[in-house]
Amino acid sequence: MKIAIGEVMHETNTFSSVQTTVDLFKKWEWSRGDAILPNHRGVRDFLGGMIDRAEELGIEVVPTFATTASPSGTITRETYEAIKNELLAGIKAAGEVDAICLSLHGAGVVEGISDMEGDLLQVVRSEVGYDLPLIVTLDLHGNLTEKMAQEANALLGVHLYPHIDCYERGMEAIDLARQMVQEGLKTAVHVTKLPLMITTSTTNQSPAKDINAICWEWEKHPDVIDCAFFHAFPYTDIPEVGVSVVAITRGDKDLAKKIAEEVANEIWTRRNDFCPLVNTPAEGIEQALAAEEMPIVINETSDNPGGGTPGDGTYLLRAMLEAQLDNACFGCICDPEIAQIAHDAGVGATISVKLGGKVDNLHGEPIQLTAYVKSLTDGCYVTSSPMGKGMHFNLGKSVRLQSQGVDILVCSVSTQVLDEQIFLLHGIDVTSYKIVALKSSQHFRAAYEPISKQIITVDSPGLTTLQFSFFDYKNLSRPIYPLDEETEY
Ligand SMILES: [Zn+2]
Repeated sequence: MKIAIGEVMHETNTFSSVQTTVDLFKKWEWSRGDAILPNHRGVRDFLGGMIDRAEELGIEVVPTFATTASPSGTITRETYEAIKNELLAGIKAAGEVDAICLSLHGAGVVEGISDMEGDLLQVVRSEVGYDLPLIVTLDLHGNLTEKMAQEANALLGVHLYPHIDCYERGMEAIDLARQMVQEGLKTAVHVTKLPLMITTSTTNQSPAKDINAICWEWEKHPDVIDCAFFHAFPYTDIPEVGVSVVAITRGDKDLAKKIAEEVANEIWTRRNDFCPLVNTPAEGIEQALAAEEMPIVINETSDNPGGGTPGDGTYLLRAMLEAQLDNACFGCICDPEIAQIAHDAGVGATISVKLGGKVDNLHGEPIQLTAYVKSLTDGCYVTSSPMGKGMHFNLGKSVRLQSQGVDILVCSVSTQVLDEQIFLLHGIDVTSYKIVALKSSQHFRAAYEPISKQIITVDSPGLTTLQFSFFDYKNLSRPIYPLDEETEY
């Protein structure tokens, strides 16, 4: 048995001023054919799960094309055409296969195409027809559409946020494809969409945790294959934005519909519980200092590169410098210009620079800073977080600066901080710091919950702020809650 696999991943923040091009994809991954295998075999991501499971079952995997870019602005048309051509060429080169498993995100937006995944799946179908099983794994931040459900035999969303179960979803995709091919299994997919946007909600805590529990109760039903709560991606201005539930059964359409609607009703009933408490950076620092234990993690959710922000926001860092701390570290602010200046100056030098706040005018002013260059690195490390464990990161020239009691990491490629590795790379043991500040919304929890005494989320203006009123939405399907208070469902 032969299964073709491939990946096209992008979470598009249409408010970002950074257009997503082939070059940006190439910074993360752009690989063809067999070159895909060593990048993912044994890695805890979607393709890793597909490859490992297929090899375990004696199924031949035929890698086609894989590309991923860090979340950023709208994908250019030219870039999408290149991706489509690569994927189709890979599928053609794979020859006759029994099934296709694709790892997509669900929140990709191209110039003129608001539902990239729906379009891409339609293109794949026009090449291979509708008889071939086509199984898709997705991120729970996907804005699901009817088109995706029509084109795929199954849409398997990651259930956990932090996304520590991508590998398991990849394995499930292969298992499902095998059952469809060898046992004649037929699937029924139902998507129920809600007129609702929610802010980032970890599934480690209520209410998202409770909704998952309901989904998993349904998964015990003998005719149910999967039930997933999609949180959607609200930082994008397209009509498809909205929370959804996807239920997949062993061919029973009515059951799939009933389940998806029941879970959706429960989410709707609890919609107010998804509104989090918000601290400003100064309030967060005050709370951290008042805590008796350490380390206390402060996460700057409003500038989360994992949601398409520039990663050079200065609101939290400025507040930390103003607070006159003596045992704090910050990771990491993206500023290639300053990383280069520090590398030119060398370890032991003192530099005076304007740090951060350069990509746009939404994430705070640059900080005028005099800092000591403590250590310099190439920014390369392998992640140890349960989320994506084994994945290689390359943040380019990086530096540990010291100024006013804060150890500040500056890198050349923007990324959210998933684990302790970027700190360790620069000689920082986060457990010996009172305050560990980082840029991420929820994914850092997978590595930091076990090692920190408290987590304090701070918000400010920024492209991933918890305040939806910050954005000038023009294309959403209205009414939508909570922007439109009177929304009914
Ligand atoms: Zn996600």
